[in-house]
Amino acid sequence: MEISITKTNKPKQKPDENNLGFGKIFTDHMFLMNYTTEKGWHDPRIVPYAPIEFSLATMTFHYGQSIFEGLKAYRTQDGDVQLFRPKNNMARLNNSAKRLCIPTIDEDFAVDAIKKLVDVDRDWVPSNPGTSLYIRPFIFGTDEFLGVHPSDSYIFAIICSPSGSYYPEGINPVKIYVEDKYVRAVKGGVGFAKTEANYAVSLKAQDEAEQKGYSQVLWLDGKTGEYIEEVGAMNVFFVIDGEVITPSAEGSILEGITRLSTIELLRAKGYKVTERQLKIAELTEAYDAGKLDEAFGTGTAAVISPMGELCYKGKNMIINNNEIGKISQLVYDQLTGIQYGELPDEFNWVQKV
Ligand SMILES: *Cc1c(COP(=O)(O)O)cnc(C)c1O
Repeated sequence: MEISITKTNKPKQKPDENNLGFGKIFTDHMFLMNYTTEKGWHDPRIVPYAPIEFSLATMTFHYGQSIFEGLKAYRTQDGDVQLFRPKNNMARLNNSAKRLCIPTIDEDFAVDAIKKLVDVDRDWVPSNPGTSLYIRPFIFGTDEFLGVHPSDSYIFAIICSPSGSYYPEGINPVKIYVEDKYVRAVKGGVGFAKTEANYAVSLKAQDEAEQKGYSQVLWLDGKTGEYIEEVGAMNVFFVIDGEVITPSAEGSILEGITRLSTIELLRAKGYKVTERQLKIAELTEAYDAGKLDEAFGTGTAAVISPMGELCYKGKNMIINNNEIGKISQLVYDQLTGIQYGELPDEFNWVQKV
């Protein structure tokens, strides 16, 4: 399938790179492709970024049959633009699609669509340290129908947003509230899919944690409330007595690409990394024994977010003296180094646009 390109004749003024924030500014173009049962995926096109009209009976508004991805384009010192493991994002989009009864896409074609769009909006990839072009691919059901049924028609869209450095003032560990009232996901549900519903259910817990003075929640499993799952919308890692441990992906956690890269990177560096179930009780015991060395979240937005303080049922745990740990810093430096082309891409993770 050939992607048609219609360029805007009203290019917008580029924003101030010192004030990008996140997700508020959009580039000049977007990618769209339609699906119908008769034609399958068709009409891939890059067009000027603009609102689209939808009937209020559009299925996605009512039953949430929609999925998304998030990745970034990075500007290197030489002025090149590159993506980090985009094929993994498109493979995950298909995993999410299968769970939500959404037709899958051709992964290589979708990576190509991302590259073509980023190429058309290449000048929008910022170059200040830590900045990037955030890329949001998403698919949603577009039937005008209020029956509960998988939609027969869909749109696959990609929009892009230049975003500021996540850590303009350096990496500061955050305070985390271990959530013991609300749950994010259960096995058999949609926790492993990148779908809107997972975010909708997380808002209330996040809101209450913020009111208590915490920046994120640590999620426990939905069935027993004993096992650690994720932190906010990030995967979670702990270093206990020198061993790096992350909860195993058994259906209720989202398998992050930063999580995978962290595991692969640390193993290549000779660290012992274990994917297994981890009880919150084991964590508090390790803390009491002085063996909880580090704790951090991983995700595309921040790469690494160290946790400096955990609160579980009134017990406050200060981790690594509220400073970023050695392994957290190593992962951050290595991953960002590869993403921005400052370190050799030994794992073949980077793709030039
Ligand atoms: C997207 C996401 C992550 C992180 O995935 P990355 O591919 O590393 O960005 C982790 N948890 C949840 C719930 C997510 O939605």
